[in-house]
Amino acid sequence: EPYIPKYLEVKYTEGSNDKKWSSRDFPWTKKLEADNKKVFGNPSFRPNQREVINATMSGCDVFVLMPTGGGKSLTYQLPALICPGITLVISPLVSLIQDQIMHLLQVNIPAAYLSSNMEWTEQQEILRELNSDVCKYKFLYVTPEKVAKSDVLLRHLESLHTRESLARIVIDEAHCVSQWGHDFRPDYQGLGILKQKFPTVPVLALTATATMSVKEDVVQALGLANCIIFRQSFNRPNLRYSVIPKTKKCLEDIDNFIKKFHFDQCGIIYCLSRMDCERVAEKLQEYGHKAAFYHGSMEGAQRANIQKQWSKDEINIICATVAFGMGINKPDVRFVIHHSLPKSIEGYHQECGRAGRDGLPSSCVLYYSYSDYIRVKHMISQGTVDQNSFGSGYGRSNVATSGRILETNVENLLRMAWIVLKCLRSLLCNVSMLKSFNTFFRKTCDNCSKIQKCIEKDVTEVAKQLVELVKMTGQKFSSAHVLEVYRGSLSQYVKKHRHESLRLHGAGKHLAKGEASRVLRHLVTEDILVEDVKKSDLYGSVSSVLKVNESKAYNLFSGAQTMRLRLPSSVTQSKLGKFEATPAKVSLTSGKQSPPRTDPSAAPQSPVDTNL
Ligand code: ADP
Ligand code: MG
Repeated sequence: EPYIPKYLEVKYTEGSNDKKWSSRDFPWTKKLEADNKKVFGNPSFRPNQREVINATMSGCDVFVLMPTGGGKSLTYQLPALICPGITLVISPLVSLIQDQIMHLLQVNIPAAYLSSNMEWTEQQEILRELNSDVCKYKFLYVTPEKVAKSDVLLRHLESLHTRESLARIVIDEAHCVSQWGHDFRPDYQGLGILKQKFPTVPVLALTATATMSVKEDVVQALGLANCIIFRQSFNRPNLRYSVIPKTKKCLEDIDNFIKKFHFDQCGIIYCLSRMDCERVAEKLQEYGHKAAFYHGSMEGAQRANIQKQWSKDEINIICATVAFGMGINKPDVRFVIHHSLPKSIEGYHQECGRAGRDGLPSSCVLYYSYSDYIRVKHMISQGTVDQNSFGSGYGRSNVATSGRILETNVENLLRMAWIVLKCLRSLLCNVSMLKSFNTFFRKTCDNCSKIQKCIEKDVTEVAKQLVELVKMTGQKFSSAHVLEVYRGSLSQYVKKHRHESLRLHGAGKHLAKGEASRVLRHLVTEDILVEDVKKSDLYGSVSSVLKVNESKAYNLFSGAQTMRLRLPSSVTQSKLGKFEATPAKVSLTSGKQSPPRTDPSAAPQSPVDTNL
């Protein structure tokens, strides 16, 4: 797996494989089961809950990978009830914290939180209570900033610790530690200090983000060298995934899709920009849906209001940036639509994970276009992606544009695009990039479930010609123009510039449109050609020109590199021996056999153009 940092040497054991953690003979088992029923009203434990609780109560450091909605909170809330002392919980969002505290107070468990935006007197009061001999709180929730910036807090924790009253440290949403994650928060990286200062206090790290790279980052940053890992399958059999080529008719498609399969049901449409959110919401309202938009530049109160209306089903559809999501626990979200390519796999996974928490069939639809890929990439490099929900105080653009993180973000995006495309052509590509996601997709992806025939072809010559053509035309044209010239178009514009490319004008005439553009896009993903994004208008659209990356192109011309592409059967060889592209004309309305309403999968009839 090329994307996992190899420098990390982390030792851990797989708790999930160890039978001892599921034992019912721990000294606390009786009380555990009783409190689970009595205090929390749960009839039983969900997968891994008992195991995690037993491990953390045995004093081990534990790392838990559990899908959103899987019940991670209980794994520290029950131990907190049973053990003496106070449990420190680090959680990234004040709104999440308030939600948790509300639930705890409802079941009569005293809990408090500290955040920087609280009145100082209020903070003083809580700190005073922590200092008292019999502190009434079972929980202290804090934001990571508080740990990083407040010496006062650390001193109080030390004091608690010396009085043997610091029972456990919980890092919720622990993927925020990792730059590989979708919610990177610099302050989470400073949390390693807790293990240094309190090496004997068990740490429990919780996340729903399952990739290896994230996990290893987290374990490393928190200093959990010998922790026990619990993970469980992230496959959500009730979610149906489809990827659909994005055309100009995308919003009509979405309207049709919702009316056909999820009318009056609840869903989220993730959009790339704030403008998109508003546009999509407006259009859906025109189509008669109860839709609203939600994004980071709205007032807090306004956002809370929208979220509330949505929870109460007064609004069905929220068109949102990724600012909408963390901590959302509406069980009957029937669809999650990505209007544009998400910027990372982890983000995509978590966003889709908000669908179908009640276990009933739900849809995840992703609209993919190459131009969105370029657009997201541009936004990432400009630092204008609505990173996450952490609004003020979080130096978004600084973070996004600083070297290494920028690279990581771009890489994350590329991995996302790769995964989307790879799954679409699961038969075309055998390299396993991210094993967990492979299985996650392959089981339920419409495209993957189609058996396609495909033809492998050596396209080295085509690739060389395209690179040459880009150079001959002065590296100042878009990919569309280069392809037109290559196919021998006689449009006015091409004619005007024809002299610059005489030799290769029409050299690709015998190829189908689909094939040349596939090769061209492959050259871009291989970094042999580079899309140089030129300008971005108000609506976030960008135009780009192709440039040649000489050092990479060299291998192609020296013969060191050949290029083989497996072309999907939609690019089929006709009787004349020519390649003919069947454009992936996929719209949800054109389905030949519409699936019955109970099957929410809106299967595209032919696979998406699977090249980037
Ligand atoms: P996570 O943090 O993993 O996303 P939560 O801890 O917020 O999930 O729990 C999600 C929901 O599942 C909550 O409503 C919680 O009450 C419920 N839940 C947790 N554990 C159980 C259980 N053992 N039985 C029934 N419901 C549970
Ligand atoms: Mg949670």
